[in-house]
Amino acid sequence: MTTLRLVLGDQLNPNHRWFQVIDETVIYVLLEMRQETDYVLHHAQKVIAVLAGMRDLARSLQAAGHRVHYLKISDPENTQQLESNLDILLNHFNAQCFQYQAPDEWRLDQQLNQFVVALEARGIHANAVDSEHFLASREHAAKLFASQKNWLMERFYRDMRTRHGILMTADAKPVGGQWNYDHENRGRWNGQQTLPQDKRHRHNHLPLWLEIQAAGVHTFGEASADNFRWPLNRTEALVQLDDFIADRLPYFGQYQDAMTQQDWRLFHALLSFALNTKMLSPIEVILAAEQAYKQGHVPISAAEGFIRQILGWREYVRCVYWARMPNYVHQNHFQHTQDLPEWFWTGKTHMRCLSMAIKQSLEQAYAHHIQRLMVIGNFALLAGLNPKQLHTWYLGIYIDAFEWVELPNTLGMSQYADGGLLATKPYVSSAAYIDKMSDYCKDCRYDKKQRIGPNACPFNALYWDFHARHANTLSKNPRIGMVYRQIEKMTPEAKSAITDQAIQWRSRLNTL
Ligand code: FAD
Ligand code: SF4
Repeated sequence: MTTLRLVLGDQLNPNHRWFQVIDETVIYVLLEMRQETDYVLHHAQKVIAVLAGMRDLARSLQAAGHRVHYLKISDPENTQQLESNLDILLNHFNAQCFQYQAPDEWRLDQQLNQFVVALEARGIHANAVDSEHFLASREHAAKLFASQKNWLMERFYRDMRTRHGILMTADAKPVGGQWNYDHENRGRWNGQQTLPQDKRHRHNHLPLWLEIQAAGVHTFGEASADNFRWPLNRTEALVQLDDFIADRLPYFGQYQDAMTQQDWRLFHALLSFALNTKMLSPIEVILAAEQAYKQGHVPISAAEGFIRQILGWREYVRCVYWARMPNYVHQNHFQHTQDLPEWFWTGKTHMRCLSMAIKQSLEQAYAHHIQRLMVIGNFALLAGLNPKQLHTWYLGIYIDAFEWVELPNTLGMSQYADGGLLATKPYVSSAAYIDKMSDYCKDCRYDKKQRIGPNACPFNALYWDFHARHANTLSKNPRIGMVYRQIEKMTPEAKSAITDQAIQWRSRLNTL
């Protein structure tokens, strides 16, 4: 009996149990398809990185003795669509069994569920297996929080620490006496620390890039195909992990929220692509950071801060996604409808923070968490941008963007579009926060201190106006009571000047 096993583009884990045994009756199928390159407009680097990774995995599986059938984006027999490609291959190989690793995106999960039903009706046995990647099940948070309105990440995180014994003492207490060292992780970077070299392997993916373009795939952002830095496979990703632990993790916590014009990466790991394509497993990354702490190489604040992102946030947002799909994508708590300004595709805005963050995203397919949250997302929420459009943009532009992780971060954490399931208050700020955490404002055309006038920083009036406009829903939130007390103290003239200024900014977003 011949079995066809589908490996998706974000399932590039060569250690999956499937690959432990060579079986002549099993054919592994990897499909490059327009349905996957085109469901949103993607950054060129993202398309290149995923296809290059798929080709490399196929090569290594074949070299190990597995039977592999690979369809390239340029192959004439490629229908560019999942079901029709699979139908042709099932017939071609006369396969009686079809298997796949559970996908992480709702879209593909649905598509494959329906395909399986159709196959069963034709007498072909079909089933899904675990992708063996995550530490929590899809349902874990829904069970943990049962009927609670707010799903506090901190509670989820402590549960995961305890369950998996990470940074825990023998008597089940958090190592160091605290669960969380966030207050130590808010340093501004003033160049006080020499930045490590970027040691990432470089590839020339120009032939692949030409093939992608010739196939008609539309992308945006810089391809950088002949100087490509994203890992091709697990071996390269492991080297990147080792370099991060040695060179950057010691300072990760301290400068985790910092932003600077001098360096786009600072002490961040750049591991999200390798994690989300499953080249690396989350537990090995977590254990590597824990080990670095145990060996005295990094302080607890760095190890804990980093581990919280993966054991906490990453697992947690995935649970939110599965608990709330398919309706999550339509959430729009504040009813924001403004189109994205044109400079989201060029970075050409006078606002220094946004031009830096967006130009960097176009060049590198990467921005770090605070740039995504407190610069781009912050502005989007204050300006009232349409959250679904913003979600599509985030899903396209970042190298690590897959819907299960991108959507809760964008719609929930950054835009509060779910009305506060994921965030206890909207993540917004005026210029003061951006100035505190970065060196952007000093080179900006706008004045970080002014609220009103043509030179005032747009974040300022938009910030106060956002709270005034949404007082009905937000003023009772104890975490932002202070903001409303400050608004109460403003004179009616000051309030109306802010409203007028904010209306003016919102009416000409393209020219800011
Ligand atoms: P580091 O800062 O070095 O952190 C280490 C690891 O922690 C990351 O590799 C990542 O796996 C994990 N992590 C950190 N924060 C989060 C988080 N909030 N959610 C999930 N995992 C986290 N992350 C994605 O992987 N894909 C996305 O599409 C994505 N979209 C985002 C959209 C918005 C609006 C925001 C605010 C955040 C988003 N994030 C996303 C989370 C975070 O910004 C990225 O994981 C991080 O910037 C990746 O870079 P890094 O590997 O250098 O991470
Ligand atoms: Fe951004 Fe305002 Fe600072 Fe300019 S002044 S960099 S727009 S926060």
